[in-house]
Amino acid sequence: MIVVLLGPPGVGKGTQGELMARRFGIPRIVTGDMLREEVRESTSLGREASSYMSRGELVPDSLIIGMIEKRIVGDGVRKGFILDGFPRTVVQAEAFDRMLDKYGLVLSRVIFINVPDDDVIRRLSGRRICEKCGAVYHVVFDPPSVQGVCDKCGGNLLQRKDDREETILKRLKVYNEITAPLVAYYRDRNLLLEIDGSGSIEEVFNRIVKEIK
Ligand code: AMP
Repeated sequence: MIVVLLGPPGVGKGTQGELMARRFGIPRIVTGDMLREEVRESTSLGREASSYMSRGELVPDSLIIGMIEKRIVGDGVRKGFILDGFPRTVVQAEAFDRMLDKYGLVLSRVIFINVPDDDVIRRLSGRRICEKCGAVYHVVFDPPSVQGVCDKCGGNLLQRKDDREETILKRLKVYNEITAPLVAYYRDRNLLLEIDGSGSIEEVFNRIVKEIK
C-alpha cells in the first residue's frame, strides 16, 4: 500500500502517519524529518535546504524529488510506504507519477486531512517537540506532566524554529498557494479521501481507518 498524506502544516499528518504505520506495518517517509536530519548533519543538501526551511519556504523541487527517489528504491519499502510532506507542488506530484510508473508501483490513496486556518495557527504555535526522542506535545491540548520535559524520555521540549508565529503564517500561505492545488490534482484522479481533522487523535484515526476500508 502506498499512501500520500496531504493537508496543511500542523493538521496531524505526523501523528496519524505514525498510527497508520503501526496499524498497516509499513514505514513512513517524512520529508521534513529527512531534511532536518540533513541540516543537523550539515550535508550539502542540508546546507542548501536550511535557509528555505527557516524562512518557511519550500525547498527546490529538484532537491526533494532526488531525495524521494533514492528513498523509495531503498530498504524496507517493499510492502509500501506512507508519504508525509511529499508531494507538495504539482511539479513534485507529476515527478512522483513518473517515478511510480518507472518502478511499476501504484499509488493506493491520498488522504487529505483538513482543518480551518485558525486551528492550524493554534496547533502549530503551541507545538513542542522533544529534542531527544521527537515526541510531540502541545502546551494546551496535550501538555507534558512537567512543563518543558518529555514524559517519555525526560528530554527537553523545544519549539521548532519554523513554528514561530511569523513563519507559521508564511508556511500557511505557501500551503494555500502552492500545495492546496494538489487536492484537485488527486481528486481528478479519483485518489482523494477527505478526512475532517478536527477532534481527538483517536477520532481522526478512526475516520481514516473507516475510509481506507
Ligand atoms: P514539515 O516538517 O513537513 O512542515 O517541513 C518543514 C520544511 O521542510 C518545509 O517548510 C519546507 O521548507 C521543507 N519541505 C518539506 N517537505 C518538502 C517538500 N516536499 N518540498 C519542498 N520543501 C519541503
